[in-house]
Amino acid sequence: MGRLKFITDGMLGKLTRWLRMLGYDVKYSRSLNDEQLMEIAKNEHRILLTCDLELYRHAAAAQGINAFFVERTTGAKKLANLAKRFNLTLEFDVTVSRCPKCNTKIKPVLKERIIGKVHETTATYYDEFWECPNCQQIYWQGAHWNRIESTLREAREYLSK
Ligand SMILES: [Zn+2]
Repeated sequence: MGRLKFITDGMLGKLTRWLRMLGYDVKYSRSLNDEQLMEIAKNEHRILLTCDLELYRHAAAAQGINAFFVERTTGAKKLANLAKRFNLTLEFDVTVSRCPKCNTKIKPVLKERIIGKVHETTATYYDEFWECPNCQQIYWQGAHWNRIESTLREAREYLSK
């Protein structure tokens, strides 16, 4: 409730994954054409994010569609621009995170349950795991975590300027 929902064009797969990890409901499919993107944005009250200027102009001129043009820049700067425009929180909160692959809310899973599903060393080094109830993907705050945190930090720095 109250949380913004988005739909992204087929070029914004990476941004889609970021927003889902931050807890936003983002619809994404590479097979949707411009008309469909606009229709879904309107019917489902999703903010249309696009890096296609033509689509953006089209959507911005249409009735009842909230569209945002995503400039070609670094991931951190894109997030900062979005955060500025929509007042997003650029803090990771795993209690609201969605699966970057399929947009389903991830759930904490007991370590015993993931044995055999992840690498043995991963199971040895980490104690907290999350699972996507839809695609069964397992997540943990591993080495990639530092990169995620540093991108978010970078984005927050842009935002504070
Ligand atoms: Zn999933």
